[in-house]
Order: sequence, then C-alpha cells, then structure tokens
Amino acid sequence: MHVPNRDAPANSLLAALPRKDYRRLIDELEPVALTYSEVLYEPGEKIKYVYFPTNSLVSLLTLVDQHHALEVGLVGREGMVGISLAMEIGVSPVRALVQGTGMAMRMGAALFLKEFNESNVLRRELHRYTYNLMTQITQTAACNRFHVVEARLARWLLMTQDRMRSSQFLLTQEFLAQMLGVRRVGVTRAARTLQENKLISYSRGNITILDRKGLEGVCCSCYAIVRDMHDAA
Ligand SMILES: [Zn+2]
Repeated sequence: MHVPNRDAPANSLLAALPRKDYRRLIDELEPVALTYSEVLYEPGEKIKYVYFPTNSLVSLLTLVDQHHALEVGLVGREGMVGISLAMEIGVSPVRALVQGTGMAMRMGAALFLKEFNESNVLRRELHRYTYNLMTQITQTAACNRFHVVEARLARWLLMTQDRMRSSQFLLTQEFLAQMLGVRRVGVTRAARTLQENKLISYSRGNITILDRKGLEGVCCSCYAIVRDMHDAA
C-alpha cells in the first residue's frame, strides 16, 4: 500500500508549498490509485475532487461531434487535474482520462476551494500552473496543425516519460490515435518508423523508450517550449 510521505511530496505543486502549508494540506489529501483508462470527469460534469498526480498521468481530451476525442493537455506530477475550480468554475470543460496508472493525492472540491481562498502560496502556485497549462494547450493546438505525426508521437512519448519517470508504459493504438488526433493507420506508421530507427519498441500495447536522445532529435520544437516553461516556473 502507498503511504504518503509527509515530508517529501512527489507532486511539484505541493512541493512548492512552505512546509507549514503543506503539513496542513496533507491531512486533507487522500492518496488514490488511478488506473489506466479510468475517466475522472466528463465534459460538463461536476468536479467532485481535484487530483495532484505523483506518478500517474492524466490526459485532458476535448470532444468533437460527440465521438471524436482529441488530447489537448497532459497532467502529471507538475500539475493538478480540475484546474477550473481554481477559477471557481465547478464543472470540467474536458474529459480527464487516466493515461498512466499510478498514484495521485486528491481533495474534495469544497475543501480545495477553502484552502485555495485561504492560502496565498497555493493560489500563486495554481495561477502559475494555469498559465503553464494554457501555454501547453495552445502549443498543442498549433502542433496538431503544423507538425507531422512522427514528430508529435516523439514529443508525446518524451512528455509522458518526463511525467511518469518511467521509460515503459502501456498504450493502445486507439488511445494513441486520440492523443495525436490521427487515424490508427497514421499512428501505426509513425510508431513503426520510430521502432525501425531503434528509438522505441512497441508490442501488444507496451511502449518502451530505447533511445531518449534519438527521440529528442526526432520530436518537434513544441516539446522544448513546454518543458522549458515548466522548468523555468
Ligand atoms: Zn509540435
């Protein structure tokens, strides 16, 4: 069983809080296991909990014409899921889908709002994170329009590795097609090219990154833009 370490939060937003604020918050945070393909919210659904991922990964998807889903953002240990609550909007505009199995710390919406209003530091951190997430979302919109699938796949894999701190993860072609906004055949082709160049191995939904440097050479410039923004924050 996962036992939260009261002194060393693995989520960067929580880690940025002064010890006093963090220790008060930890009593209200509950560790939860998030499982691959679990949906935390649907668009328009009331937000019951906010989530601070520690080693899990959550994908934010926009739905188009009821059945097309496109990833517009990724949230891992650098962020929080349910950020619209920090703008006092109680519903989610996106589907939040667990993309990487792992742990998160969660807090009920009412408690979160109370803490958010009382803690200057938490408020400042979440405003900064909201800005970073907005940048990630706008960069992703431009990326989907201008960059080729192979470069986008490489970027997605690097972002996933950074957040999960693992070079191996589960990923079906169907999910990957949603992540990249392309048909499965496009995903298969791009994954095959990366595999032929020995950058990844991919079999039965398991992806392993074999050559991170090589992937950095293939990915588009959007990767470094979003990474450096999070690092600089
Ligand atoms: Zn790009």
